[in-house]
Amino acid sequence: QQPFLSVRDLKVHFSTEDGIVKAVDGLSFDVLKGKTLGIVGESGSGKSVTNLAVLGLHDRDRTAIEGEILLDDKELLTASEKELERLRGNKMSMIFQDALASLSPYHTIGKQIAETYRKHTGASKSQSRVRAIEMLRRVGIPQPEVRVDDYPHQFSGGMRQRAMIAMALVCDPELLIADEPTTALDVTVQAQIMDLLKDLQQEFGTAIIFITHDLGVIADIADDVLVMYGGRCVERGTKREVLQSPQHPYTLGLLSSMPSLDHPVDVPLNPIPGSPPSLLNPPTGCRFHPRCTFAEKVEGGLCSREQPPLEVTNGRGSACHLTAGQRAEYFSDLAGSA
Ligand code: SF4
Ligand code: MG
Repeated sequence: QQPFLSVRDLKVHFSTEDGIVKAVDGLSFDVLKGKTLGIVGESGSGKSVTNLAVLGLHDRDRTAIEGEILLDDKELLTASEKELERLRGNKMSMIFQDALASLSPYHTIGKQIAETYRKHTGASKSQSRVRAIEMLRRVGIPQPEVRVDDYPHQFSGGMRQRAMIAMALVCDPELLIADEPTTALDVTVQAQIMDLLKDLQQEFGTAIIFITHDLGVIADIADDVLVMYGGRCVERGTKREVLQSPQHPYTLGLLSSMPSLDHPVDVPLNPIPGSPPSLLNPPTGCRFHPRCTFAEKVEGGLCSREQPPLEVTNGRGSACHLTAGQRAEYFSDLAGSA
């Protein structure tokens, strides 16, 4: 299947007063039509930065970008601001953690959704209002013909999130980028929003990039998974491959820190010790080596000297110096006890 979005060897580097931050450093992935790619990693792993670059929303003056971003065969990195503006809405759209940041407090919810629709489709004001009400109904807002005239502050957090989804999907985009859209919500509302996104994806056939630090969310929604660490992909594959037979110590660490249903709530989880790498001065060799409990198993201090290449076959791969035999030996108990 032809990917709808194809990213090749993407590098996103910022200049700061202290030097160059290599926020994304050689990332490649594809998103297929109607499928969900989950991108998982800690904060600062480059997941949000990657997607801002796809949307063309990075600060162009301070950012050096290299690589290729093809959306439906159109190269986005060389596209003009005007073209990107048109594509954002018609072809790709986004939702964020904070609905208040994407909804203006000064206009009614309905007006904002209708204006987005009007701008991209040229529909009339009254048609656009009808469309806004229809979308609010579709995302589960009760009495949409009344609530359409509410302001964002009159909506609850969960309803605002629904309204933001309505606005993101009003022009029927083919790609939706969802950056931690449920992180700030309580568990029940979070589950409702996830269900809504899955339903809408079925109905509209939207491809989704779902960004999260939570493997539980990935387990719920993703088809394919990309695990990011320090601006790079360390592991990728289908959801089943990555969650059931992880190949990279970092993925294994994420899995063992994931709460599971049979985890009594008072048992402390097992977060990966240490903190994410500096992207100003990344560790030499494997960027995960200062935190990796397996680094000493690899001969000759290779982990701190040489960056392991990401070897990918049929979409499956990982970047680690451990041999398949070593992984089989060391990972089995750990994955089993997670
Ligand atoms: Fe750990 Fe070495 Fe593999 Fe990096 S390359 S994840 S440090 S074992
Ligand atoms: Mg982020």
